[in-house]
Amino acid sequence: MPPANLTNDTIVAISTPPGRGGIGIVRLSGPEARRIAEPLLMLRHPLEAGRARFARVIEASGDLKTHVSESRRGAPAAEGDRPVVVLDEAVVTFFAAPNSYTTEDVVEIAAHAAPVLLEQLLRQCMAAGARLAEPGEFTQRAFLAGRLDLAQAEAVLSLIDATTLAQARTAARQLGGGLSLQVQPVKRSLIELIAALEAGVDFAEDDLDLMADEEIVRRMREIEGPLRRLEESFAYGRLLREGFRLAIVGRPNAGKSSLFNRLIGRDRAIVTAQPGTTRDPVSERLQMAGVPVELIDTAGLRATADEAESYGIAKSREAMAEADLVLLVVAANEALHAEDLAAMEGADGRKLIVAVNKVDLVKGQGEELDVLERISRWSGGFRSRFPSGMTNKTQERLHARVAVVATSAVDGTGIEELRQAILEALEAVPPPADTVPLTNLRQHEAVTKALQALDSAQAGMQATVPHEMLLLDLHECLKALDELTGTTHTEEILNLIFSSFCIGK
Ligand code: GDP
Repeated sequence: MPPANLTNDTIVAISTPPGRGGIGIVRLSGPEARRIAEPLLMLRHPLEAGRARFARVIEASGDLKTHVSESRRGAPAAEGDRPVVVLDEAVVTFFAAPNSYTTEDVVEIAAHAAPVLLEQLLRQCMAAGARLAEPGEFTQRAFLAGRLDLAQAEAVLSLIDATTLAQARTAARQLGGGLSLQVQPVKRSLIELIAALEAGVDFAEDDLDLMADEEIVRRMREIEGPLRRLEESFAYGRLLREGFRLAIVGRPNAGKSSLFNRLIGRDRAIVTAQPGTTRDPVSERLQMAGVPVELIDTAGLRATADEAESYGIAKSREAMAEADLVLLVVAANEALHAEDLAAMEGADGRKLIVAVNKVDLVKGQGEELDVLERISRWSGGFRSRFPSGMTNKTQERLHARVAVVATSAVDGTGIEELRQAILEALEAVPPPADTVPLTNLRQHEAVTKALQALDSAQAGMQATVPHEMLLLDLHECLKALDELTGTTHTEEILNLIFSSFCIGK
């Protein structure tokens, strides 16, 4: 990664993915972008800011000058008596600083995506003085120039990496500055509070109206609320970004496949596989309400008649060990089987949701209740095995670990509840519509740090520490918020973020 101030050179990269295709773009950014591009182009009309121009891309040879006019179409082009080798036809767009992605002069040459051609273009640009861009360097320049803040720059990466529409939508909201907009009013209140306290400290001798303690406490609480909500949104944001692994277990014919198809609904058709992320060759990557789900195949679970039951159970344990969440499907019209109970035991330590499926078959027969009762009795037994000395809080969490939902894959009963139970079990409930969720660890750490500092300030208020001490915490809080949006940043953080981009972004 070049030093941050090295933005006076001109960078170049192929900005479209490798491989053949209709269009491939070579992008230049920097003060020399135009000077470097022009000799490679035969333009019918000179480049003009914000306009797309038709051009022939030529093979540069020696000291070719700019070709502003082009000889008759089809006729061999020439300068003097030297023939010009035409490589391709392209659409070239010039963006004049500061109205470009990077805020510098940018030239985009959209040629046909033939790798040899784009590489030749790249080489010619480099021979003319451009430097090959580092990963993420175009976006980094946009950030360094202040056109994007750090959360927005990260959103570019998330947008490119999105595999579900919900991920893309969230990234687009972050790219639009949604996160920063949420943080700004908090920062403003914080700065106002700091200013008021500082005035009190600086002019303690003077007869200044000091802010009342209750007012300080109130303002701190006002700052805390939105930060807390933001922090909480990360559970969903992380889930949205990383997805989760789901093992569906249960006896043959309980309705596992039917239920799963219901859960993912029409999403199945549009899921794209992300190479390298599939841990298990028999798992499927799908999405549920926009959240990527890796379904761990439990085919091995379906113990055939001649297989020992223990074999099926061992297989189901294997599948469950891989999962973030286990969904046990039992049929409402059948008695609970030892295998089902074994699966519940096997899910120990993991979140478990029991779907009592096929309730349509037992409606009005009282059997549905019966099955639910049996399960709740079982989970009661589970509860009675809590080690003594376990805190109530831990117990509560364990109780919450088993959720029971009555469903029917046939008539759709309970599907929405099941989806909700899954999100809740993963402790990821979508934030309110006006909250753009935090989606990455760095952002989450920044908000956590801000909240810790604020907590410390609030504790300080309780302990009536001098305002100088409170101010230290409040400044710490502000610093963390600045890190979130990148107002203050370290070289290290920038390198970490931008190096995970591909070249050309
Ligand atoms: P799996 O072996 O556990 O994956 O079960 P399937 O999803 O293949 O379903 C087994 C059979 O039960 C199929 O004939 C389904 O149509 C049927 N089935 C699944 N869910 C329900 C349900 O909720 N109600 C009823 N009546 N039948 C269901």
